[in-house]
Amino acid sequence: MYYKSLFPEMPKVPESNVHHLFFNRPDQREWPDYNLFVNVATGQRLSFREFVDRVRDGATAMGADVTQGGLSLRPENGEVVGILSENCSDYIALIHSLLAITVPFALFSSYSTSYELKHAKSLAQATRVFTSLALLPLASTLGLPADRIYLLDGEKKGYTSYDQLVSSVRKNDIPRLPVRHATKDTLAYLVYSSGTSGLPKAVMISHGNITFATLGMIIQAMETAKIQAPPVWDTPDGLQVSFNVLPVYHSIGLCITSFFNFLKPSTIVILPKWNIDAFFECVPKYHITTVSLVPSLVHQLVHHSRFKTANLSSIKGISCGAAHLPPQLADQLHARFPALNRVVEGYGLSEFTMAVAMKPVHGMLNGHAKNKPGSVGILVPGVEARIVSPDGSLAGPNEAGEIHVRGPTTALGYKGNDKATRETFVDGWVRTGDQLRIDEDGVLFFVDRIKDTLKISGMHVSPVEIEKTLLAHPDKLIIDVSVAGVSGGRTWDERIPRAWVVLSHAGASLGEKEVVAQLDAWVQERLSRYKWLRGGIGIVESIPKSPTGKVLKRVLVEQFDREAKAK
Ligand code: AMP
Repeated sequence: MYYKSLFPEMPKVPESNVHHLFFNRPDQREWPDYNLFVNVATGQRLSFREFVDRVRDGATAMGADVTQGGLSLRPENGEVVGILSENCSDYIALIHSLLAITVPFALFSSYSTSYELKHAKSLAQATRVFTSLALLPLASTLGLPADRIYLLDGEKKGYTSYDQLVSSVRKNDIPRLPVRHATKDTLAYLVYSSGTSGLPKAVMISHGNITFATLGMIIQAMETAKIQAPPVWDTPDGLQVSFNVLPVYHSIGLCITSFFNFLKPSTIVILPKWNIDAFFECVPKYHITTVSLVPSLVHQLVHHSRFKTANLSSIKGISCGAAHLPPQLADQLHARFPALNRVVEGYGLSEFTMAVAMKPVHGMLNGHAKNKPGSVGILVPGVEARIVSPDGSLAGPNEAGEIHVRGPTTALGYKGNDKATRETFVDGWVRTGDQLRIDEDGVLFFVDRIKDTLKISGMHVSPVEIEKTLLAHPDKLIIDVSVAGVSGGRTWDERIPRAWVVLSHAGASLGEKEVVAQLDAWVQERLSRYKWLRGGIGIVESIPKSPTGKVLKRVLVEQFDREAKAK
């Protein structure tokens, strides 16, 4: 059975640079001067008008000809800008400057190790990088000359900052560069995902994808919020105050902070990175009304000693996605926010820009309740879905199978990886690698992940990446390896990575304890903390495989989980 979004059709919009949707709409004859950004780290504030001026001047500094004092960045010259930074308002300004000049950007994880960063850079073929002062030493390991490394949140001798680029345009009166033309398929940015298996890949998101992801949110909000007016989250001056705690390099943080928050007057309070004490202090200080979280942060919050006593009364809306939110956790949140009728849970993936399904803002659509416990909501506007059974047939209502989705937010594919693109993007459908069911009311329920990747703290963890890292140990301590998720994560259903290894001669002569210590240290040096082998390393005689050579991970995992339970 095929399912279509229950929302009205997406409007036809002219193909243009997505910049016009945010900053050049007919209703925006003048840019307003409400407070758009508050940087928690510096206390710096920026009005909407100041922000757009910054975006346009930044675009001019980077896009104008060298003869006019610009950097002359053009997509046709192969320019791709990497961004490696904690959250700050100039991160968002830079993104919009690059969209205006159609130069694609790649969102590097600020938790990367040097090894991961080099891989991300080479996938993107990034020619320059913008970074923060704190991450400059890491960015410097990329081997780019200093005049291709720029700073976002401060200044340092020998480097140009985004702020200096903006100032140079103003000081030298460089004429403002017009916004460059883009079609719906013009590449906008690259975001990293493991897809359904294998090493991280760079998902290509277009201007059209951003346009429709944003319009989808507008339609969703208009259709579901109309049953209750005025919108529940408004402060007395009519502003939503949105708290940005998720990293902007991930699809959810990026889309909410950089795109969706421009839909209605919002003040965006930016935290450089997640910090639970800052959370409890900022909510009353800035009168935060909405916040987007991932389940691991919800878990930390509800188990913190300040959760019950802190003043969180201004919060009127919480959304949560990126991984499964166990119903018990959702209930614990609800109990603390009686005015909140629910947490807006959503399901999505980077290969689909962001959202596939979301719970409607007030739990209702056209007078029908769509807010079912344990569900991840209904298809967002413009989305079609089908549930495919393991035998390839289409599943009926309430039958679980792999969900395939299509719509105007389907990404362009993976950069430089035609094989993975062909496997995931098939005849216009995205094969998600997730098992869901859809009930007779069109409500989606997440069942399981079929794909060989783990989700830890909302981030992708690819077993293949960890396996390759272990096999690359310079002393060749092992000859075979398999990595899979075992129980023991923060939430009861979060799996953590564990490796099973077969020792080489060199490994056997070193001794099991020493091999485990060396492999652990090696992984910790090369990979981000959330990919470390918290499930341990087990030494085995051989890795169980099927007659066709496929590793039987389930055998390893079940045996481990059984033994762990028995202890
Ligand atoms: P990303 O590309 O990092 O956004 O990761 C997408 C993947 O995260 C999906 O394919 C799912 O496996 C998982 N995911 C996202 N939202 C949810 C959810 N609400 N419940 C369970 N898993 C989710």
